[in-house]
Formats: sequence, C-alpha cells, structure tokens
Amino acid sequence: MLPAETEEKMEKNDLVMVSITDLTTDGEGIGKADAFPLFIKDAVVGDVIRARVLKMKKTYGYARIEELITPSPDRVGLTCPKARACGGCQIQQMSYEAQLQYKTRKVIQNLRRIGGFDAVSEEGAEKIFVRKTLGMSDPWRYRNKAQIPVGKGRDGRVTAGFYAVHSHEIIPMAECALAFPEASEVQRLVLSWMEKHRISAYDETRHQGTVRHLLIRKGFSTGEIMLCLIVFPQEMKKLRGALPELMAELKGIKGYRTLCLNTNEEFGNVILGNQTETLDGPGFIEDLIGDVRFRISPQSFFQVNPAQTNVLYGKALEFAGLTGNETVWDLYCGIGTISLFLAQKARKVYGVEIVPQAIEDAKKNAELNGIGNAEFFTGAAEEVLPAWYQKHPDETIDVICVDPPRKGCDEKCLETIGKMAPARVVYVSCDSATLARDLKVLTEKYGYRIEDVQPVDMFPQTVHVETVVRMSRIERKTLG
Ligand code: SAH
Repeated sequence: MLPAETEEKMEKNDLVMVSITDLTTDGEGIGKADAFPLFIKDAVVGDVIRARVLKMKKTYGYARIEELITPSPDRVGLTCPKARACGGCQIQQMSYEAQLQYKTRKVIQNLRRIGGFDAVSEEGAEKIFVRKTLGMSDPWRYRNKAQIPVGKGRDGRVTAGFYAVHSHEIIPMAECALAFPEASEVQRLVLSWMEKHRISAYDETRHQGTVRHLLIRKGFSTGEIMLCLIVFPQEMKKLRGALPELMAELKGIKGYRTLCLNTNEEFGNVILGNQTETLDGPGFIEDLIGDVRFRISPQSFFQVNPAQTNVLYGKALEFAGLTGNETVWDLYCGIGTISLFLAQKARKVYGVEIVPQAIEDAKKNAELNGIGNAEFFTGAAEEVLPAWYQKHPDETIDVICVDPPRKGCDEKCLETIGKMAPARVVYVSCDSATLARDLKVLTEKYGYRIEDVQPVDMFPQTVHVETVVRMSRIERKTLG
C-alpha cells in the first residue's frame, strides 16, 4: 500500500507557488513547495514565484519560473538580452551587491560544511573570519579575452556568437557585456570581410569550411589588441588572397597590434590547433599586472580579469609578508604571474608548473622584467616539491604559495608542505570546496592556523569566486 501523502505529491507540469530562500553553489534558486525543495534557474533569494515543475526526484525537484509574482529587492533587469540562453552569466539577474554577498556566503558555507571550520562573516575570537568579497567598481567589460565561435546561421549567412547551452548550435550575438568593446568591433569587421570575399565558416558536423573561431585579446594597461583567426585548412588560397584587405581594415581599430592565424584540423571542442603563424605585427601583445610586464601570444594562458588579478595577487603578496630576505615557493605557477609579483619582494622564488609552454613563458617574462631571482621547474607540484626537498632538506623555506586548479592540491603536495614547514602558507583558490578540504588537512595534520580569508570577485555576473587565505605555522617542525 502506498503511504497516503504520495497521492498528493507534485508531478511534472504542476504549477506551484515558491518563495526563494537560498541559492545553490551553481546559482540556482532554492525554495520549498509543500515542504518539498525545488531548484529553480534564474531565481533570486527573496523572489516569490509561480513555478512549473520540470522534473521530480525522490527528495527534490526542478522547476522553472512561470510568473514572477513578487520580485526580490535584489533582482535587477538583465543587461544582456541573451544572458539566459548563453549561460555564461549565471547571476546577472542579481544586483552586484547581492552577488558579492552570495560569494562571501558561499565561501563561509564551504568552510563550514567541508572544512568543519567555525567560519563567520564578523570578526570574533576563536572563529574563522571571512572578509567581505572584494568587488569591482564597474563589474562589466572586465574580460580581456573573447573566444567567439563562427558558423552558419539559420538564414545561411555567416554568423558568430556563442553555443546554446548543451549544444553546438551557434546563437548569434553581436556583443558580450563582459568583453572589451573592441571585441565586437573586430567581430563585425571579420564577418563582413568573410561575407564580401565569400570565405566560409567551418561546419563541425560536416568537418568542412574555413573559419572556426575568433580569438581576440586586449592588454588592458597597454591598449594593445590581437586577433587570431582559427581556421580549418580549407580554401586557404582564397583566405590568404583576402588577408591584405583584412589587415588594412584592422588598422582602423584603435590599439590593433597583431594578426595571427591558427590552424586546427581536429574534430572536437579544443579551440586552438598546434600551428600558429604571425601574419601581421609581432605575433604577441603585452600587458601589465602591477609593475610586471607579460608577453601574451595566442596560446599563452593569462588571467582574464587583469584588474582583479592585481587585487588578488596584491593580497597574496600582502599575506606572504615579505621583507626581502625570504625564500618562497610558488606552486602551480602558470606563466609565473604570482612568482614574479613575489620575486620583487623576496630573496628567491621557486616556481613549479605542469605545462612546459607556460614555464617557457614564465622564464621569458622573468627576463623581460629583469627579474633574476626566480627559478622555474616543469612538472607536477606533488612530484617536483618532494624531490627538491629530499635534495635540499636544510634549506629554509619561509613562504609557500599555492594556486591550484579547481581540483585543489594533491595530498602528497600538502604532506610535503607540512614537512618543509614554512612559517606561512598563502592559498589562492578558484574553488572554495576543495580549498576547504585542503585547509582542513593543513590545520589538522600539519600544524597550520588560518589567519585571514579574503574572497575576491574575479568573475562578476558568474557564480565563481576566488579566495586567498593566509595561514601560519603554530607547531614546530615535527615531521620528516
Ligand atoms: N598562478 C598562475 C595560474 C594558476 S592556474 C597564474 O596566475 O598564471 C593553475 C595552474 O596549475 C595551471 O597553470 C595548471 O596548468 C597548473 N597545474 C595543474 N596541475 C598541476 C600540478 N599537478 N602541478 C603543477 N601545476 C599544475
């Protein structure tokens, strides 16, 4: 016999009234209908919604907004009309102040749930105080890089925009509210050039056609702009014949510095192929983070929000507490952004990174800036660091900085940090869940104490939050 309440249970397509009381870490609204939790995309805490049930699971369900009965005071109009279809901005419908509060709360919740820490938003004894998320004064147009897929639109003409969620259909978009304004100018110029010269767009289902993606980058402090055309090598003669005209037109865009051509013959989602040719200009642009100059080629990794990178790494530098005599490790160093930042204030910096190309860039960047006290290693942090420590057991390391990818640090890496026992650990994280997990290990097993937690908003309008944490050692070296 079925329990009585199941007869009343909600079903797909039912209409229900829901008050949104919380948001998931992915930015979906959570509210209860008859004590049953529903997840609702594009909802804001404080909204009262008439929602249509989309899918029911045993203990929760999914619904969508059918009608907004009472909008939350935190709700704002969408700046970009394509925001819901694109999915790149998950929380554009929230006021910026509410976005920042959400991010602080997310860090606190992860520290509590995953790390088991007594994390709070106000200063107090015996608690882990999480500072307010540092936001931008203008949370738009912060991205210095646009990667725009090119294809054939429904009307048969070449178009560019973004992939519809869960598909590769290109939804035309003339302008992204997060990218720099020149990106849309370059896009418009390339599309009309393609049309005029009958240069085809790549069609991934048939593996035919020419232009696949536009990669457009800008150095925000130098103003320099790069376009890299990513092509499937078909009808290249026609493309090459039309290039002089493209170059001439690009020169009309303020800051334009270089044009590159990247060839990608592969099926699949990887945007850049292996071959890049410089067609015009030096093949790279330059930008500054703080006082450090970086050379950016089409393949180079570079933080996409340079203004907030400066804020984040400024905090990391502050937390490292350098006086000029310290020896520092920068684990997961990428192109050496943090390493070179720290090297200006330290005696010696060692960096380690798994991607060889990034290490080549890091070395070049050190040279470009006349920084002679940074040394870089290629390899996995969890292998390079223990091997180095075995060879140099007596060298004092004062500070270790880590900036791992979303999966966080390898256990072996944390163990080696414990053995090397630096006075301070600075943890820069792009995922507060793995951050909380790793902080728990460092505090419970290796004698560290959390001293400061500062979230930084590197990606306004999205659910992502970066966090920088200062830890210091409370026990004497006991391991190893
Ligand atoms: N601090 C850097 C980038 C950090 S992103 C900057 O600002 O430029 C994380 C970096 O970790 C990436 O460059 C990635 O290639 C690298 N990485 C991933 N796994 C790694 C590992 N096991 N050991 C060392 N580096 C790794």
